[in-house]
Amino acid sequence: MDRQIKFAIIAISVMIPLSSFVVYQSGQISQQPISKSNSKLITISSFYPLYEFAKKIGQEKIDLILLVPEGVEPHDWEPTIHDIQNMQQADLIFINGIGFESWVNNVHIINPKIQIIDTSVGIKIKNNKTLEINESESNAVLISDPHIWLNPKMAQIQVQNIATALSKNDPANQDYYQKNAQSYINELELLDNEIRNELSKCNRDFIASHNAFSYFADEYGLVQHTIINSNDPEAEPTSKTLEKIINVARKNDIKIIFTEEGIDPKTSQIITNEIGGKVLVLSPLEIGAKNFTYVDRMKQNLSNLKEALCR
Ligand SMILES: [Zn+2]
Repeated sequence: MDRQIKFAIIAISVMIPLSSFVVYQSGQISQQPISKSNSKLITISSFYPLYEFAKKIGQEKIDLILLVPEGVEPHDWEPTIHDIQNMQQADLIFINGIGFESWVNNVHIINPKIQIIDTSVGIKIKNNKTLEINESESNAVLISDPHIWLNPKMAQIQVQNIATALSKNDPANQDYYQKNAQSYINELELLDNEIRNELSKCNRDFIASHNAFSYFADEYGLVQHTIINSNDPEAEPTSKTLEKIINVARKNDIKIIFTEEGIDPKTSQIITNEIGGKVLVLSPLEIGAKNFTYVDRMKQNLSNLKEALCR
C-alpha cells in the first residue's frame, strides 16, 4: 500500500477516538457515568481475561467495569462515549499492555488522575515477524506480541501485578487482595502443571487461526503455525498462504486445523477439505463468554489440543 494512504488511514483512526474525547469534554453528553458513591476503588479492566483476574482478587471490595463487552473482539476495539465516561470516574485501569490497547494513550486526556496499570510489567516480551499486506518477506515487520494471557505462567504475573496495584491504592484491604491473588495463582499453577503433563509426550506442531499462541507454544515446547500471518484475527488469508499452510499440515501429518470464536471457520474448513481432517476451536480467550471461566476455557483448549496432538 502507498505509504501516504497508509498514514492517512492511521491519522483518521487516531482522530476518531480523540474527537470522542473532545465531545465529552465540551459537555454535550448528559448520560450519567458510574458515580463514586462509596469508598470502593473504581477499576476498569480492558478486556475479558483481565476482568476475571481483577474480579478474583478484588471481589466485592472493588467496583469493576469490563471495557470490551462480551462477544466483541478486542484487537481493533475503540472506546465508546459511555466507556469514556466510565474512564473519567475510575481510579485504576488494568491493561494488557504491549500495544494491545491502542487507545490507552488518550485516557489521560479525560482523566489525568487515573492510574494505568500495565499488567505485562515483568514479562519478557516476544517480537514476532508479521507480514505486510503484499506478503513479501522483505516487507516483514517485527511486532511485539501481546498474547501473554494465554501462557498461565505469565497470567500469574498479570494477576500479581493487579494485586499489587490494588494493595497500593487500598492498603486497608491489602491482605485480602494478596490472599485472593495467591489462591488464584495456585489455581493457575495447577492448570500449568496439567497442560505440561498432558502434552508432554504428544506431537508438537499445530495450526492456529491467528498468531495468538507463541507464548503458550514456547512454554510447553510446541510449535505454532498460523493460517493468518498477522496479529489481526479478522485478516483474510491469500491463496498463497493457504497453499503454504496445507503443505505444513501434510509435512507434519496434522489432521486438525484450529479456528477461533468470532471468525468464519470456512478458511479452516478449506484446509481440512484438502488434507482430510477436521476443524476444532483453539480459543485465544479474547472474546468474553458468559458462564465460562479462564480456567474452563484453557482446559477446553487443552482437550482440543490433545485431540490434535496426542494420537
Ligand atoms: Zn489476538
